Parts: sequence; C-alpha cells; structure tokens
Amino acid sequence: MPEKPHQNLAIIGHVDHGKSTLVGRLLYETGSVPEHIIEQHKEEAEEKGKGGFEFAYVMDNLAEERERGVTIDIAHQEFQTDEYYFTIVDTPGHRDFVKNMITGASQADNAVLVVAADDGVAPQTQEHVFLARTLGINELIVGVNKMDRVDYEESRYREVVTEVEDLLNQVRFATEDASFIPISALEGDNVVERSGNMEWYDGELVLEALNGLEEPEPPTDAPLRLPIQDVYTISGIGTVPVGRVETGLLNTGDNVSFQPSDVGGEVKTIEMHHEEVPRAEPGDNVGFNVRGIGKDDIHRGDVCGPADDPPSVAETFTAQIVVMQHPSVITDGYTPVFHAHTAQVACTIESIDQKIDASSGEVEEENPDFIQSGDAAVITVRPQKPLSIEPSSEIPELGSFAVRDMGQTIAAGRVLEVNGS
Ligand code: GDP
Repeated sequence: MPEKPHQNLAIIGHVDHGKSTLVGRLLYETGSVPEHIIEQHKEEAEEKGKGGFEFAYVMDNLAEERERGVTIDIAHQEFQTDEYYFTIVDTPGHRDFVKNMITGASQADNAVLVVAADDGVAPQTQEHVFLARTLGINELIVGVNKMDRVDYEESRYREVVTEVEDLLNQVRFATEDASFIPISALEGDNVVERSGNMEWYDGELVLEALNGLEEPEPPTDAPLRLPIQDVYTISGIGTVPVGRVETGLLNTGDNVSFQPSDVGGEVKTIEMHHEEVPRAEPGDNVGFNVRGIGKDDIHRGDVCGPADDPPSVAETFTAQIVVMQHPSVITDGYTPVFHAHTAQVACTIESIDQKIDASSGEVEEENPDFIQSGDAAVITVRPQKPLSIEPSSEIPELGSFAVRDMGQTIAAGRVLEVNGS
C-alpha cells in the first residue's frame, strides 16, 4: 500500500479553548486509539456501571498524562485520515516547542486554531496566530469550538468569525488561507460527523478540511542543504561527515561545497543505515565521503550544498525574533549564542531595527532602545564567526534559529535577509 503523505499539524489557541478535547475527538473518531485499549476501557467502564462512551477513555488518558506531568498531552499524537498521515507537533507553549523548532523537528506545515465560541479571541489566540505566521504556517483551519455553550447560534458564530478575520488581517495572514468551522469538540459536532444541531452550516467538517489541505511539497526541488552533525574518520573509507538532508538531493558523483569552511569535492559514496545508496533525500540521515576532504577541513555546523549553488554565509543577517524570556532588557551590542541547524555561534545584535506588536504584527517603534520579554522585533545580527544560514522565505529548513543565554532559550526567530560575504 502506498504510504500516505505526511502532514505536521500544530494545534494552537488560548488555554482551555478545547485543543486537547479536539485532538482527543480526532484520535478517537479516526480510529487512532487501538481497539484493544478501547475494549479494555469499555469493560472497565461497564464493570463500574458506566458503559458506553469510549471517547471518555481518550480524554481520561490525556488528563492522566497531564496530571503525571508527563509530556503535556497533545503533542506527538498521530492519526490518519483518508488522505494524510498526521503528526501533531509541539504547540507554542509546550516545553519542547522552541527546542524542536530549532532542530526542525516540529516544523508545522499547517495549523488548527481553536477559538471558544463563548470567549471569542483571547490573548493567546493573538499570540499563537502571530507565531504561526512568523513560523510560516501555510493554511489555518479555524474551529469555533464549544458551540454547545452558545446554543449553537449562528449569530454568535458569525461574531467570532469576524473577530478572527480581523486578527488575521492585522498580522497579514491571508484570510483566503483560513477556513472556519463551527464545532463542539466535546459533543462531536462537525469534527468527523456532521452536526444535527447546526442546520444553518453546510460547509466542511474538520476532517474534510484536514483532508483538503494541500500536500506539503517535499523540499526536493530546493538546492541541497545538509547541515553537518559530526565528522568521523573511518578506516578504509576516510573522512565521513554525517548529517540529515534538510532540502534537495545528494547523489554520488555530485560536486559539493561545505560552508563556511569553504572546501569541496566530489561525493564518492553515501551510506544510510549501514548500506551504500546512490542518492539521499530530505529527511535521510547519511554518512558520506567526499574526495580530498580531510577530517580537520570540515566541522559540525558546516552546511553541505552543491558547488554551483553553495550554502550562504552571513556576514550579517536581518531576522524577525520573538523574545520569550529575558531577565532584563536586550539592547544593541548584546552577544548571546545563536543556535541554527547544527551550528552554535555567538552573534552580536548589531541593531534593533523595529519593534513589532506581538499580537498584531504592526510596527510599533522604529529603532527602539531596547526590547524585552514578550516583544517581537526585527534585528540586524553579526555572527562572531562565519555562519551558514539562509533566508527562511527561500529555505525555511535553514532559516530559523533560537537564541540562548544563561542556560535558557531567550528568543526564537527566522532569517529575513542574508548579507553575504
Ligand atoms: P485546552 O487547554 O485548549 O487543551 O482545552 P481542553 O481541551 O483541556 O478543554 C478545556 C475545558 O473545556 C475542558 O473542561 C473541556 O471539557 C471543555 N471543552 C472542550 N471542548 C468543549 C466543547 O466543545 N464544549 C464544551 N461545553 N466544553 C468543552
């Protein structure tokens, strides 16, 4: 059976608006909870005299995980629809979100925004929508949830849709890229089954909207970018850099260049899972050997690309960042460590060019004196050592970074422009 294409899905929205409940509902109704587990729960429930409602199982399970303080609930859950294999990636606020964002593990393709019909747009709704835009989410499915709480009234649904549309316009997220659905995750209305409570709505169900998402383009058309994780010397072969192909293809016989070390040569062999292969694709973890390259010529943090379209090296770059936590203020001249793909380089914030309203995306102030926790900004950055990085509009896989200092992540961002050397 051909494998279904994969989608990484982020679930965003204000706390308590129903994200976990919606995920529980999706897992349950797409049959992603193993039958034997449901059976077992059913038996238990029947023994205790409260038969039936298996959905409760999923929710109990999520709640229990939360209580035990295990990974918060919904991240990393998986389910399949007719069209796609979905992985729910970390959601802003989840403790691993930033870490996984840097390593690219949680690059979400699309997102579901949950907005409770009774509350409407709330502070985290704004924040998450802004983050979604910053991180390059393509399409947004907006579930106006808890419709049961507002008597399934169309007029309230319309009000919330208008509020969300205003928010999307503010952050310049094209409203054509958003679809709106009135739902009750708890009762199961319009998630997988069409609701009998909202005759006035004849649009898509959540499941249909998920199936209708565009297939994410595997980044094979982009030029090769393969950040180097480690460099080994293997007897009989020689120098073997290893890493994951982020974009493009690596073929034996290709002429490649390592930046910023600025060396290159012809790919002799590629090895994956202890077997020699002629080609590697995005997502493949490989070791390979390049004619004429010695162990000390290349380093972790280098990026391998085609010799005729080599990875960019930044003398300076501009970036949009969000400051997540900083004990005081950030000013020009501050030099924390930037983590981008496999590189870690001290970089000086040469100038803070614009402060951006984190909830609307509007420019709030040109050349502010400082920024602090919660602020979003456009900055100009000068790496203290050569750093290979790409504009996220061109190669998103190599265009985001996290900023760390004092043992914690203080900001995350994406590269707008690279001013090369
Ligand atoms: P999260 O913080 O966004 O993940 O929200 P939860 O999924 O944990 O839901 C928060 C509360 O809202 C829980 O008590 C849910 O049972 C309740 N809830 C979620 N969806 C609905 C819904 O569609 N209708 C009603 N009435 N309550 C809901």
